[in-house]
Amino acid sequence: MKILVLNCGSSSLKYQLIDMDTTDVLAVGLCERIGIDGRLKHEPEGKPEYVSEAPLPDHDVAVKAVMDALLDKDHGVISDISEIGGVGHRVVHGGESFAKSVIITPEVKAAIEDCCSLAPLHNPANLIGINACEKLMPGVPQVAVFDTAFHQTMPAKAYMYALPYEMYEKHKIRRYGFHGTSHKYVSLKCAELMGKAPEDIKIITCHLGNGGSLAAVDKGKCVDTTMGLTPLAGIIMGTRCGDIDPAIVKFLMDSEGLTIDEVDNMMNKQSGVLGLSGVSSDFRDLGAAAEEGNKRAQIALDAFHYRVAKFIGEYLVALNGADAIVFTAGLGENSGSSRQAICDYLTFLGIKLDPEKNSQRGKAQCISTEDSPIKVFVIPTNEELMIAQDTNKLING
Ligand code: AMP
Repeated sequence: MKILVLNCGSSSLKYQLIDMDTTDVLAVGLCERIGIDGRLKHEPEGKPEYVSEAPLPDHDVAVKAVMDALLDKDHGVISDISEIGGVGHRVVHGGESFAKSVIITPEVKAAIEDCCSLAPLHNPANLIGINACEKLMPGVPQVAVFDTAFHQTMPAKAYMYALPYEMYEKHKIRRYGFHGTSHKYVSLKCAELMGKAPEDIKIITCHLGNGGSLAAVDKGKCVDTTMGLTPLAGIIMGTRCGDIDPAIVKFLMDSEGLTIDEVDNMMNKQSGVLGLSGVSSDFRDLGAAAEEGNKRAQIALDAFHYRVAKFIGEYLVALNGADAIVFTAGLGENSGSSRQAICDYLTFLGIKLDPEKNSQRGKAQCISTEDSPIKVFVIPTNEELMIAQDTNKLING
């Protein structure tokens, strides 16, 4: 069976068609600038890349363009739409309604709609994608896979904020956490690599990309994570500030004469390692600048590594020890120097990296030494495969 995985943003749509018998990716692609002008880039397996600049006025047209690309006689990878057995949609916020992936029904769509206030930029776009697929592929089962679902196992002591309880009751203000599909994928893969059942181990997963979060995973279940009500919380990110003193918001409004929206924009788009360094949100640029002696770039890197290490410390407490630490996502998978800098804070635990293994890329493997009491892994994340696997499981009972 082939599963189409869709990740719909407000003006973009990423897709992958995956053959579930082999887990081969048959095509990946991206529609951009939907509603502005439009661009589709389609990369079929074993065939040349195809780019179209035909207008994409809305998501219905974009989904149709994806179908056409998949079916095209030159750059297509299927000969009939009926070869697609199901569609898995990445949905950002499932609130407290969804602790796992579900087949999409009118009730599920209504619940996703209810969560729009918690993810105003993402959930409406996810719903548009779902509706477009329902229109263009009637009868093909659709599945929603939520970024928040994996974290729904957190206990109240981890997800409650110390605000008046009515704020939770009235507005559902609590920690939800994000990147759940990635944390779930790498924690399962880690158990597999260790030759253990997920129920028998405790893992700290570090998803370090442009956005980043950590999760404490006990017996296969998330017990704590760094992102909160929104993806602004937790570690320092590319452009997001992560955890700060909440009183800074009012202080900035008063001292800089900013509106609440301007402060929100500053914390989301002008902060993080970009704001600290003044150089870039990309860790590769920061590394290069720091090497050339840029002090602010070095401070940004140091602060980033320090915060990640401190959260690992928190989660060692949450889990009462751990069997493994996993690094994943753009920086976690690719930067040996960042992994080393983070693990340098953990030498008191006896954690040691194998320099040779830590310098390798693109391979899921243990990078700690034989005698390291807590094993350290690099595991390339694969959210699309996880979405396709959940979709396949639900469709086939
Ligand atoms: P992601 O959000 O998972 O796509 O990760 C993107 C981020 O990963 C980029 O902003 C880079 O900062 C970081 N990244 C990717 N490759 C490298 C690398 N080789 N060294 C350091 N950082 C990297």
